[in-house]
Amino acid sequence: MYLKSIEINGFKSFANKIVFEFPQGITGIVGPNGSGKSNIGDAVRWVLGEQSARQLRGSKMEDVIFSGTQSRRPMGFAYVAITFENANRIIPLDYEEVTVARRVYRSGESEYLINGSSCRRRDIVELFYDTGIGKEGYSIIGQGQVEKILSGKIEDSRELFDEAAGIAKYKKNRTVTEKSLEQERQNLERVTDILAELEKQVGPLEKQSAKAKEYLKLRDEEKDIDIHLFLYDYERLKKEQEENERQYKIVSGDLEDTRKIYEKIKEKNGKLQDQTQAVTESLETKESEKEELRRKKETKDNEILLLSHKVESNTLLITHYEELEKQSDEKKRHKNSGNRGIKKRNCSKKTGNQ
Ligand code: ATP
Repeated sequence: MYLKSIEINGFKSFANKIVFEFPQGITGIVGPNGSGKSNIGDAVRWVLGEQSARQLRGSKMEDVIFSGTQSRRPMGFAYVAITFENANRIIPLDYEEVTVARRVYRSGESEYLINGSSCRRRDIVELFYDTGIGKEGYSIIGQGQVEKILSGKIEDSRELFDEAAGIAKYKKNRTVTEKSLEQERQNLERVTDILAELEKQVGPLEKQSAKAKEYLKLRDEEKDIDIHLFLYDYERLKKEQEENERQYKIVSGDLEDTRKIYEKIKEKNGKLQDQTQAVTESLETKESEKEELRRKKETKDNEILLLSHKVESNTLLITHYEELEKQSDEKKRHKNSGNRGIKKRNCSKKTGNQ
């Protein structure tokens, strides 16, 4: 296993994406002061899960994101990925290459990735236990740290030696186990306390239990009574229902008969209404005929009256004319008789003259 490459983008002084390839045989990176050599080491610590801004030579975590220069705007995120060759499977993953990556945004949002898959920080830390690569590993030794290790107390450099000896993982596991053991011990104490407390309650609880048993017995009896009552009511209601059904059938039959009679009466009534209507209509016709005849009679009566007046006046006229005729006849007779006397006289004259 060896470090193959480091990709850095937006981390500290590396505004542009840069990939450091480490083919076997590379022993160092050189450059002038302030050119960013230590920033590469910081990038490796950071990607392996470093959470202390101080360890990364900053005051807050956001300081790892490129903060801009006079000619370049700040970046919105920092990204670092390191790739290891893993042919001998020292890193316990069944891959020829293992890439771990970390990305953080100014908003504080961040993510860790193993071979492109999202993961927890803890997954990355555990992946490098006893490989010497972890953030506490001896493979990353910052400026002045060698001196500190050699001249400092043995306790300060113990983690480094544990990692080198391959017992860091077991020590960490032991710490975790001790913690959970302590937790369990405290739980046991709590359970013992609760048990003691419960034992105190046994006496009163026995009384309560007897009461509860009595209650359950009475409740069962009540249940039995309820069931009997229910069965009794059920039988009674069933009989009532049967009787009601019988009555219902009778009433339904009556109702059907009545309905038929009603239909017949209704039909008859309809016919009678039609007849009444016809009679009324013919009565009305007769009434209008009677009225017409009455009017005609009145006209005729008037005509008769007129004619009788005429007859009366004609009778008077006839009488009058008859009177006149009589008088005329009388006059004629008188005249005729007068004329005959004259004629006689004339005749006698004529004769005398002769
Ligand atoms: P020396 O040999 O003196 O230790 P070095 O080559 O290790 O130097 P570093 O300390 O890695 O250099 O880099 C320091 C440079 O990184 C400084 O110029 C600093 O301005 C720059 N730097 C650090 N953090 C940021 C950041 N967030 N944004 C931009 N530049 C940064």
